[in-house]
Amino acid sequence: MDKTNTKTRFIFITGGVVSSLGKGLAASSLAALLQERGFKVRLRKLDPYLNIDPGTMNPNQHGEVFVTEDGAETDLDLGHYERFSGVDAKKSDNVTAGRIYSTLLSKERRGDYLGRTVQVIPHITDLIKDFILKDTENEDFVLCEIGGTVGDIEGLPFFEAIRQIGYKMGRSRVLYMHLTLVPYLAAAKELKTKPTQHSVKELRSIGIQPDILLCRAEREIPLEERNKIALFCNLPEDAVFQALDVKSIYQVPLRYHEQNLDERVLEHFDLKAPAPDLAKWKNIVHRFEQPEEGEITVAIVGKYTGMGDAYKSLNEALDHAGIAHNVRVNQRWIDAKGFEKLDVAKKFKDADAILVPGGFGERGVLGKIAAINYARENKIPYLGICFGMQVAVIEYARNVLGIKDATSSEFGAYEGGDERGSLVGIMTEWDKQGVVEKRSKDDDLGGTMRLGAYECNIITGSLAEKIYGSKHITERHRHRYEVNIGYHKEFEKAGMKISGLSPSGKLPEIIELPDHPWFVGVQFHPELKSRPFAPHPLFYSFIKAAITQAQKVKKAA
Ligand code: GLN
Repeated sequence: MDKTNTKTRFIFITGGVVSSLGKGLAASSLAALLQERGFKVRLRKLDPYLNIDPGTMNPNQHGEVFVTEDGAETDLDLGHYERFSGVDAKKSDNVTAGRIYSTLLSKERRGDYLGRTVQVIPHITDLIKDFILKDTENEDFVLCEIGGTVGDIEGLPFFEAIRQIGYKMGRSRVLYMHLTLVPYLAAAKELKTKPTQHSVKELRSIGIQPDILLCRAEREIPLEERNKIALFCNLPEDAVFQALDVKSIYQVPLRYHEQNLDERVLEHFDLKAPAPDLAKWKNIVHRFEQPEEGEITVAIVGKYTGMGDAYKSLNEALDHAGIAHNVRVNQRWIDAKGFEKLDVAKKFKDADAILVPGGFGERGVLGKIAAINYARENKIPYLGICFGMQVAVIEYARNVLGIKDATSSEFGAYEGGDERGSLVGIMTEWDKQGVVEKRSKDDDLGGTMRLGAYECNIITGSLAEKIYGSKHITERHRHRYEVNIGYHKEFEKAGMKISGLSPSGKLPEIIELPDHPWFVGVQFHPELKSRPFAPHPLFYSFIKAAITQAQKVKKAA
């Protein structure tokens, strides 16, 4: 079991009472604090649901699918981890019960278990432990979050696995941190600690005594109440922390640090380290909450507008660029569905820029085309991401090149009979660092996608080159369809430039309109690589164009 260096410490983050309390942010914030104190950190997430990965899950229900450099479709918490710690997440940093079971069942069929009865304990729990411990030798801390809440049936093997790790390694290398809710009952005018007590009781009944409690609350929990929680939950008084609602997520590391959370964690491990320098965090909180250069509005035309987390990385990437320019970026979401019937100009009256993000399926595409057409003709800055680039190409083909039936093969078989219709089509071969990757059209859903980091060459003299300050970039992908390079010449002649191409020269990666102030479409997802302290150059430039547009409108008024 002890494959890890004796130096690596493990911090397990669990949750109780209800979900969505901010475990991912708590883990990310603690990681950021430890990092600022000079430690090397790695963050992992264990998801007890049975999907093999979140790739097939509806973003409306589960939130965004975060894609790593190495091409894994993972939980959106990995996005928080990357953004707060600056450490690129890997395939090996997120696992689901589905994947664990699938591994176990293949091993069983191969006969790896040599005739033994295969059981949740020890076989599933052993696989979970292997996952947690793998490749952690060079880390000072591994922060490992368990999805769901304590008491969920499907979570039990995960809790048992982390209990065993603590049992074997001892408390000098393992810390359990539990996040619960302390609700406020308005009618009684009281904060209630009972749900927290029950949650900890549940955790202790499966053999885990938390070392640190984070109590999420809408309002200040008086010391007296915190001490009561400590007493009933069997913790020292200084191990109970408040996780109060904050105006912005960038405050979270600061609020925990003010309460000495990082110091308490180091004490647990008997470690000493210099105090963290949090000036850069304070700076972004200030810029984000009180920007000094006014505000701009970006209209985002998408489909999954019901769920706040469906475009998490995009929301954050826009915020990062806003922070960098010291402006507030208002994100106005417009549902693409049914939208083409409305007065487009009215819809975009106060939009300083328009963005069409990634998406799947035909629903809402006419609305997106109308929005892009409006941005193109009215010279409003436009950023098209993935689907947003494909639809921009279709819009251009239909309205400028006169290919009236231009479409994507994603929208079902094209029935017009004219081959030219299929401008965006399925690809089953990709060139990855000189090696051709092949997939079948009939692979399982997810299997046919181009996923993860791919290289792209940028054409000299393009806006893209100016934006990136480089002619060679790597960006993350998640899509099945590609723009057909066959139309290259027609597009260039009419004025749409393909300014970024795959190394093979076959896949258009970036398009732009030189006669427009700022019109860029990218086949990849730049939002996945934006960080609060290093905004993505495309978003940085896009927001700058929006600021210029806002100034132009103001002058004209
Ligand atoms: N649906 C498109 C494709 O699969 C675009 C995907 C996306 O925007 N992520 O190619």
